[in-house]
Amino acid sequence: MYDCIIVGAGIAGAAAARVLAEEGGKRVLVTERRSHIGGNCYDRPDDHGILIHEYGPHIFHTDDDEVRAFLSRFTEWYDFGHEVVAKVGDQLLPIPFNLNTLHLIFDGEKASRIEKKLIGAYGEGSRVNIMRLRENEDPDIQEIADYVYRNVFLYYTMKQWGQKPEEISPEVTGRVPVVISRDNRYFKDVYQGVPLHGYTPMFERMLDHENIEVMTDTDCADLLDFSGEEIRFRGKPFAGAVVYTGAVDELFGCRFGRLPYRSLDFRFEHLDQESFQDHSVVNYTVSEDFTRITEFKFLTGQRDACGTTIVREYPFAYTGAEGEIPYYAILAEENERLYEKYRALTDRFSHLHLLGRLAEYKYYNIDAMCRKAMDLARRLAAQ
Ligand code: FAD
Ligand code: UDP
Repeated sequence: MYDCIIVGAGIAGAAAARVLAEEGGKRVLVTERRSHIGGNCYDRPDDHGILIHEYGPHIFHTDDDEVRAFLSRFTEWYDFGHEVVAKVGDQLLPIPFNLNTLHLIFDGEKASRIEKKLIGAYGEGSRVNIMRLRENEDPDIQEIADYVYRNVFLYYTMKQWGQKPEEISPEVTGRVPVVISRDNRYFKDVYQGVPLHGYTPMFERMLDHENIEVMTDTDCADLLDFSGEEIRFRGKPFAGAVVYTGAVDELFGCRFGRLPYRSLDFRFEHLDQESFQDHSVVNYTVSEDFTRITEFKFLTGQRDACGTTIVREYPFAYTGAEGEIPYYAILAEENERLYEKYRALTDRFSHLHLLGRLAEYKYYNIDAMCRKAMDLARRLAAQ
């Protein structure tokens, strides 16, 4: 009945499904254990009519024209240059730390001197990982590196990861470099924004195709069996492609122990006031137990909404308990080795494809995930 089965209706699963159905003419079943599609991009209006991102703020940003064009078939966009500030004492500082931030924390003469040195050392417009900046021996640059390390990275990273910045992968801290320019935007990509009417309608349209069937509230374990030498679907061998976007340890009963993840507790609050913080995202880099507060009306363009809804994010170590969601793979050699043990178990299924932030145990943005899904689906569509 189906040519392909896709586990998970996040961006990886949904984009792959569309390409397989449309370009390959494949009959595709998408099974999703949650009661909704969209994965972590899912959004919905709350009880007060304000569009919220159920799993944390998601801003689409990309330089990839083809990914943008693909998604633009299913949505219009609310384009904006996403900006973030950090609350440090009484000040709100632009993040990533940049030359504007420098001039806010030091007086004019000192800031100008350090600015010249930074431009001389790294070049105007460059983006420097904080750990690399800390290696610079110039006392002025050391001072600024130390300031950024202590006031932007240390406490926030301890909250987010339970580890110091030097203990986590430089790939992670490198996502928010020190920027030697006056650009206050959080991302550098050409396209930045959110779907005009929300992510969920975008996913609905993407999955709305005669060759695609979506089953929500359906864990793949209810349909698929990976315990033998071949994949079984509803008890019978299934020879078509299976694209799995869930956590790979769960496929094998976590037999080598659980893959470590960081999770988040999202605490939403609606306030009967026009605005709470006047910014879409404020990072708490030196205080509080939560990492950041998002105020949705500034993220989604719903500035005229009545009242305002915010969410605080409290990180914790994922344990696999009922209801917990594994959000962030913890990039470390030991964890990669454990991941590899699980991945090796999938070798015996030549038509099983691991795709996605969970299945690949990687830190992907939406656009990179969409690109990978399109590429994989095109290869499978041609088979
Ligand atoms: P997911 O969205 O997690 O989808 C996987 C789906 O598979 C889920 O719906 C899950 O329920 C389902 N599933 C898992 N196991 C099973 C099973 N056994 N049976 C059936 N279904 C199953 N990216 C950006 O580009 N910009 C941002 O601003 C941004 N912000 C983020 C903020 C947070 C807090 C987080 C956690 C991530 C953020 N991301 C952002 C990353 C973005 O969420 C991911 O790139 C994207 O969601 C990855 O898509 P995916 O399909 O791989 O995974
Ligand atoms: N980070 C930080 N302070 C900040 C912003 C980011 O220490 O104000 C660090 C932190 O370790 C975080 C990482 O940089 O996990 C990547 O930040 P990003 O905003 O990309 O995280 P995400 O949006 O994926 O949660």
